[in-house]
Amino acid sequence: MDRRSFTKLSLLAAAASALPLRAESQQPIRFAPVGLGTISNIFMEACAKSSKCKVTALVTGHAAEKAPKYEALYGISPKSVYNYENYDEIANDPDIDAVYIGLPNSMHAEYTIRAAKAGKHVLCEKPMAISSAECRQMIDACRQHNVKLMIAYRVHYDPMWQQIRDMARSGAIGQIQGFQGGFYGSKTSGWRLDRKLAGGGSLLDLGIYPMNAIRWIAGEEPASFSAQIATKIPGPRFASVEESIEFTMKFPSGLLASSGSSYGEAGGAYLSIDGTEGNLWVEPAFYYQGLRFHGDTIHGPVSQISQGRQPYQFTHEADHFADCIHNNTEPATAGDEGLKDLLAMEAIYRAAGAPIA
Ligand code: NAD
Repeated sequence: MDRRSFTKLSLLAAAASALPLRAESQQPIRFAPVGLGTISNIFMEACAKSSKCKVTALVTGHAAEKAPKYEALYGISPKSVYNYENYDEIANDPDIDAVYIGLPNSMHAEYTIRAAKAGKHVLCEKPMAISSAECRQMIDACRQHNVKLMIAYRVHYDPMWQQIRDMARSGAIGQIQGFQGGFYGSKTSGWRLDRKLAGGGSLLDLGIYPMNAIRWIAGEEPASFSAQIATKIPGPRFASVEESIEFTMKFPSGLLASSGSSYGEAGGAYLSIDGTEGNLWVEPAFYYQGLRFHGDTIHGPVSQISQGRQPYQFTHEADHFADCIHNNTEPATAGDEGLKDLLAMEAIYRAAGAPIA
C-alpha cells in the first residue's frame, strides 16, 4: 500500500470510528411524561412523530389502568413505570433524559424540583406554576442541578405564529399600537375549578394564551394593569375560581392591550394586532390546529390557514427542547418566560381585587 492510500484509509477509519459517537449524541431525548391526562397523551403522540424525542417511561398514579395502553403503543417496559411516591427513583434510570410535566397547575413546582434533583431536564406545561415565588424556586432548582427547564408554550414553536410575530415586528403594519385578544370557553370541569389544584380560574388556564402571545410579540413587559372579574353562573361550580376576567395592560412604550378569558362564555380564541398602518387578525389563534390569520399590511392584504395537524405544535416544541439539550442552549421559552407570565397574571388578579399570591 502506498503512502497516499494509507493516509486515505486512515482518514476513512477515523471518520468511521467517529460515526457512532456522532450518532450517539443525536440519540432521541428520552422522556417520562408525568401525569397521564389529556395533554400528556397529545405529547406522547407528538414524540411518536418526532425523530428527536421518544417516550421511554411513564409516571402515573393509575398504572394498572393507564400504563398498558402506552406500553403497547410506544414500547415502554413495565419496569419503567413510576408512581408519585417512587418518582425520585428516576434518578437511577439511565433511560430517562427528561420529564414532561402534564399535571394540574399546583403540582408543577414540586414535580419539576424533584426532577431537577434527580438530574433530569424538565419540559413543564403552562402555567409554569401557581405563583411567581414557585417559578423562582423551579428556576433555582434547575440551575442548581444543571438541568434545562422549558415551559411548554406551543404557540412559540408554530411556524405560522413565528411568521405572524415576524410580520408584526417587521413594520408590515407600521408601528404596533395595540392588541385585543381573548380565549373563551364554557365546558370546563374537574381540577380546573378547584383553586387548590388550579391556582386560579380561566386566566391561568386560557387567558394566559393571548397574554403570553401579546408579551411575546410586543417584546416588552407590561408595566400597569386594570382588570375586572365576574362570575355570573350561580352555584358551586365557580365557588373557588373566577368564571370570567377582562384585563388591560399598558407597556412602557405606550402600547395598550386588552384581553380576557372565561369558563362560562362559549366564545372564541383570537388575537388582533393593530399597527399604525395595518392590522393582523388571528382566529382561531390558540387551538391545536386550524390556525388562521388575515389582515391588511403596507404590502397589501394577507391571509393564510395553517395546514399543520395536531399534534404538530407539540412536535415542534419537543424538537426544540431536544435541540437545546443536545446543543446545550437555552430554550426559547425557558423558566424566565413562565415567571414573567406569572408576574403579569398576579398583577392582573391584584388589579381585579382578587390576589392569588
Ligand atoms: P388532565 O386532567 O387531563 O390530566 C391531569 C393528569 O394529572 C391526570 O393524569 C391526573 O390523573 C393527574 N393527577 C395527578 N394528581 C392529580 C390530582 N390531585 N388531581 C387531578 N389530577 C391529578 O389535565 P390536562 O388537560 O392534561 O392539563 C394538565 C396540564 O397541562 C395543566 O397544567 C394544563 O394547564 C396544561 N395544558 C396545556 C395545554 C397546552 O395546549 N399547552 C392544553 C391543556 C392543558
